[in-house]
Amino acid sequence: MNLHEYQAKELLKKYNVAVQDGIAVEDVKSADDAYRHIKNKTNNPFVVIKAQIHAGGRGKGRFVGTDVPGVKVVKNIDEATRLAKDMLGNVLVTKQTGKDGKRVNKIFIAEDMYYKGISDIKEYYLSILLDRSTSQYVIVYSQQGGMDIEEVSANQPDKILKEYIDPTVGLQPFQIRRMAFALGLTSDAFKSFQKFVTNLYNAFIDIDCAMLEINPLFKTSDNKIVAVDCKMNIDDNALTRHPELLNLRDTNEEDPTEVEAGQYNLNYVKLEGNVGCMVNGAGLAMATMDMIKLSGGDPANFLDIGGGANAQTVEAGFKIILKDPHVRAILINIFGGIVRCDRVATGIIEAYKKLGNISVPIIVRLQGTNAEEAKKIIQDSGLKVTSAILLSEASQLVRQAIS
Ligand code: GDP
Ligand code: MG
Repeated sequence: MNLHEYQAKELLKKYNVAVQDGIAVEDVKSADDAYRHIKNKTNNPFVVIKAQIHAGGRGKGRFVGTDVPGVKVVKNIDEATRLAKDMLGNVLVTKQTGKDGKRVNKIFIAEDMYYKGISDIKEYYLSILLDRSTSQYVIVYSQQGGMDIEEVSANQPDKILKEYIDPTVGLQPFQIRRMAFALGLTSDAFKSFQKFVTNLYNAFIDIDCAMLEINPLFKTSDNKIVAVDCKMNIDDNALTRHPELLNLRDTNEEDPTEVEAGQYNLNYVKLEGNVGCMVNGAGLAMATMDMIKLSGGDPANFLDIGGGANAQTVEAGFKIILKDPHVRAILINIFGGIVRCDRVATGIIEAYKKLGNISVPIIVRLQGTNAEEAKKIIQDSGLKVTSAILLSEASQLVRQAIS
């Protein structure tokens, strides 16, 4: 589950992680109030307004048809009002949103961190992730943070540093010192960094984050280390431990079909291709997608309907796949282990009849318990469904269907 910047910062504050603070609002009137509040609090007319979407690159992004960026400093109430109007309800396109962009429903009115030390602005990068290849956490960090971090990583990979953390012993003080030295921090900034990273790591572990990225990590002119931006992704499998975090989910930011699939407990990921697929088991689903590729097609989705495939799940799967106008054929690949193939075949036929107007060819490969009976059920149904038992047969049928 991804969080918005303002939500992630609220959580980090509970762990005493210093953040660029602000107020999230949904309408222009509240934006004006928030501007005044922040201005009075900081005693500074400069305030930064940040569009809240689940995508980075906002600073360099632009609202459709304008040159308004997704992050901008304003210096009086009129500019704040105008910018709030320009942002709220409009679509922001960044490198990470795709060309359709994302509609901005909330903006974050935040204190301007940079005004005091314009001559001495230092933006660092720091993120904490799980490194699956070493089964360790890793802190990735760099002196060259800010909006060009992707270019730094591509062109100057030696500027990106890593600190691996054994999860059983946790982050050790000597590791934090090593990072602080590598970033060139001294005196108060060094101490502030130690506290920042200790608390950030605690938050990462406690919240069960899969990823926590601070970019820029900022050093103020009075040597305090502060998170100016924050991206947080929480491990979905750990959410049962944090029921209080569930209401932070913003389904507006997610693919609507994926949200619907989640309601049926289906694991669905939308892709760009033309062959829809419905499979039981994630491994078989991956292999099926490879097979579609080898047959000359392109998978339109990943869909794992899980172990207990029945008429309802098959129907839900069909509906979801058929929402995608690019789908030219559907391949159903089910291995009958505990679930019997003849039951699945009956479920497919029922769902097909119920949905009525399915115009794309359907290829069903049922293998395992009662596969022959299943094939017969499908053949006898008289529907536009072809059956295969071998993967090679299914592959051949997919090729015919899309050529
Ligand atoms: P992102 O582009 O989506 O990663 O959004 P960020 O929150 O990282 O902001 C983008 C850029 O806006 C930062 O790299 C800064 O250069 C700038 N920025 C963010 N906050 C402030 C601020 O308080 N004052 C000033 N002057 N610039 C800021
Ligand atoms: Mg950023």
